[in-house]
Parts: sequence; C-alpha cells; structure tokens
Amino acid sequence: MRTKNYPLIFERSKQGRKSYSLPPLDVPELKLDDEIEEDYIRKNKANLPEVSELELIRHYTGLSTRNFGIDSGFYPLGSCTMKYNPKLNEDIAKLDGFSYIHPYQDPQTVQGALEVMYDLGKHLREITGMEEVSLQPAAGAHGEWTALLMIRAFHEANGDMNRTKVLIPDSAHGTNPASATVAGFESVTIQTNEQGLVDLEDLKKAVGKDTAALMLTNPNTLGLFETEIMEMAEIVHDAGGKLYYDGANLNAIMGYVRPGDMGFDAVHLNLHKTFTGPHGGGGPGSGPIAVTGELAPFLPKPLIKKQGNTYVFDEDLPQSIGRVKPYYGNFGINLRAYTYIRTMGATGLKKVSEYAVLNANYMMRKLSREYDLPFKQHCKHEFVLSGKKQKMLGVRTLDIAKRLLDYGFHPPTIYFPLNVEEALMIEPTETESKDTLDLFIDTMLQIAEETRLNPEIVQDAPHHTVVKRMDETTAARRPILKYDL
Ligand SMILES: *Cc1c(COP(=O)(O)O)cnc(C)c1O
Repeated sequence: MRTKNYPLIFERSKQGRKSYSLPPLDVPELKLDDEIEEDYIRKNKANLPEVSELELIRHYTGLSTRNFGIDSGFYPLGSCTMKYNPKLNEDIAKLDGFSYIHPYQDPQTVQGALEVMYDLGKHLREITGMEEVSLQPAAGAHGEWTALLMIRAFHEANGDMNRTKVLIPDSAHGTNPASATVAGFESVTIQTNEQGLVDLEDLKKAVGKDTAALMLTNPNTLGLFETEIMEMAEIVHDAGGKLYYDGANLNAIMGYVRPGDMGFDAVHLNLHKTFTGPHGGGGPGSGPIAVTGELAPFLPKPLIKKQGNTYVFDEDLPQSIGRVKPYYGNFGINLRAYTYIRTMGATGLKKVSEYAVLNANYMMRKLSREYDLPFKQHCKHEFVLSGKKQKMLGVRTLDIAKRLLDYGFHPPTIYFPLNVEEALMIEPTETESKDTLDLFIDTMLQIAEETRLNPEIVQDAPHHTVVKRMDETTAARRPILKYDL
C-alpha cells in the first residue's frame, strides 16, 4: 500500500542517500563477522529509509504542521485537561544534571534528582491529604490498577479473602472498570440519579461483605461535585470497603478540598493533566498514587526516604505489592510537575481551580442557549451538553465535532459519558483567555445556526482540513495497523 496523500519516510527513500556525515575512520575497521557470534548477526536487511538531511527535516516538519496540539490552538477535550504546558518546565527538564543521569547510578551521585522526587511526593501528599506516595505508576490507569492491587493486599492481610467486587458509578471514566477487571475484581455499576450524582440508594443496595472498594471521581465525570461524599464514605467504610479516588482531574478542587478529607483511602493523580506534563500523542505520562497510613505498607517499592541529609531508595517493605514499573517512574514528567507546583505555589494552585471552574461555568451558561444542558446546577472544571436538539434536525454530535475542525478548534470529547445522549463534554481549563472562550462560544452558536439553516454543511464537515471525513466504522473494525513495504 502506498500513501499518496503524504508519503511515508520509507516511500521517500532512495538508495544511498544519507542524512548524516561522519569523519573519516581513524581506527582499524571492525569486521562484524569476526567478532560477533553468528546468532546475533541480522540476516535480513533492516530496510531503513535512506533520505537526505533536508528531506528528513521537511518530512517531519511537514507532518508536525498537520498535527493539532495545545501550542497550536484551543483544545477543550473533556476529562483530559489540555492546559498550557509552561515552557519553563522544558528548560528545567533539559538541565544536564537531570537529563544525563541514569536510574542505575549510585544514589550518592544523584542526590539532587532524589530530592526532587522526595519533595514532589511531599507536595502531592499535601495536595491530596494523604500520608504516603509512590511515583512509580506511568499513567492514570496504571495508578488505578496499582492501588487496587494494594487494596486487595490490604484485605487479604486482614484475612478478608472474599472482597471481590469494586463498585463504580455509571458515569465513571472507562479506565475504572477496566483497571478493576485487570486487577482481578468484578466491577458493579452504580446508577446516577437525575441530578447527575451517585444514587445513594443504589449504592446502599450494592455494598456488602464482598465490596473491596468504591472507585469515584469527585467532581464526577459530568463535572458535578458529589455533595454527599461524606455519607458515601461512611456507607462503604461501614461495610469494610475502601474508597478509591480517581484524581486524574484535580483542576477543580486544588486548594479547596482534598481526597483525604473527603474520606478516601487511595488516590492517583495524572501529572500529565493537572500538573502540566505535556500529553496527547501517547505519552509518557505519570500517575503517582497517594494513600492513607493504613494502606502505605502495601505501596510498590522502593520508596524514596530521607535518612539524615541523604536520600535513599528504601527496599525494606515486606508487605509491598512489589515493583510496578522499571526504574522509579517517569522522572522527566515528575520533574515537570515539580517545576509547575513550585512555580505556582499553594496560592497559585488554588487560583488554577478558581479559574478552571469560572471558565467552565461561563462557557456552559452561554452554550446552554442553543445546546441542551442535562444537568442544570453549576459545574466544576468541565460540563456536559447534549446535542439532542440538533439531532432532531439531522445533525449529530459527531458532525458538530467535525465542523469545529473547520474553524480551527480541537473538538470536545463526544459520546462520553455514556449516560448522556449525544454527549459533548467540554473542559476549557484555566489557561485560556476570555477572548478564546468567547471565540469558541460564538463558533458553537454559529454551528447551531448552521444546523438550522444549512445542515448539510455541518453533516459533511470538515471541509477545510487535509484529511476529510473518515470512515470511522471501517477504521474501528478493520484498522490497518502494519505498514508493508
Ligand atoms: C484521563 C483519565 C483517566 C486515565 O488516565 P490515563 O493517564 O489516560 O491512563 C482516568 N480517569 C479520568 C477521570 C480521566 O480523566
């Protein structure tokens, strides 16, 4: 298969072209066959692309201009926190003392890096109201899974072997039931009531001797604060279960309320969302977990400890669930989060929450003139609209999302959460100016008007992008994942 639209680097290849030049060899040439055992010598040609330096630069620069990122435009993807990633983070991450070290170096020679990890843990404990932290998990889902293994280990250490169920509201992020399943639990769905909050009666019915934990995010995935959280915590704790806080999005509550104070026992944080690790495009992320003292003995090892003035890796954790990631976590992302936290300070992080919530509510009220708002109360950092009025005119949420591309915006999250028809989930974040918010609002209102006057233009969108409407069914059912030369 050849890709006509934009050739792959392999298709640009011409034998003999090189994008590097080396000085003449001034040592004896090594004959591979003499020195390396037969088994280790590659039999087939690697088929690497051969291009000049200029072709190489043009190829990747061209590709980068077809991409969309937070540095190129507004990216209101709900449940994702696509906020600006300060460039100062990059300056710090590039420092030689951080970027040229190796995880297997003697800890004595990398005390500064260990201090950063230790201090970051301290800040995360303070932000979450928890007692101990592990920076190992590589992403949010990984943190969820890690903490669930710890919760299982905790129950088993108490001789409680039959806690097989994890309760999860139907509005939860898809990673919650997935993590519970991968960790070997059965997930039980808890219904959402008309206000978009957990149905307490349903929770009471589901909870019991077989409950290992309740997984919850607060504000929940509809962007609404679960006001009855203390009561929920009591219900679950009384039944012997633990409360897990999905802290992927802390953007609405930092400095105002802490998972620890809401009765949670374990939490993960997405440093690549709230704490400005760049994300999208597949990572790397970082999903540290923070837990109460009761769960701390089960944390992955090693932990970073301070002995006098020296930072050490503590391997002496007999009840630890073990290691969940090679080395000690994604240090580069942890470092960026540390830089961000130190730059913002406690008052700065509190302001982040204020502006994130203000921006979301401003946008929600303005957009509700044209789009159905299923839950009427104030939202936190994000909100969910329904495109059901537009659907009656033959325009679906997917069409609206595609039309936004024509206007240079990344679309919001669509068809999620699953309990809202034709859902549009919007998270403006705190880093956008009022001008940008207004431009997006005007564009959305204009699309609603186009839907009434000229629905085809929305149904056939996008019109002004390099790639037009895709066949999403074929892409999902028969994806071509391998390129054959
Ligand atoms: C993003 C997100 C996750 C998953 O985090 P990953 O780093 O993508 O694994 C979990 N829960 C919520 C609410 C999220 O927004």
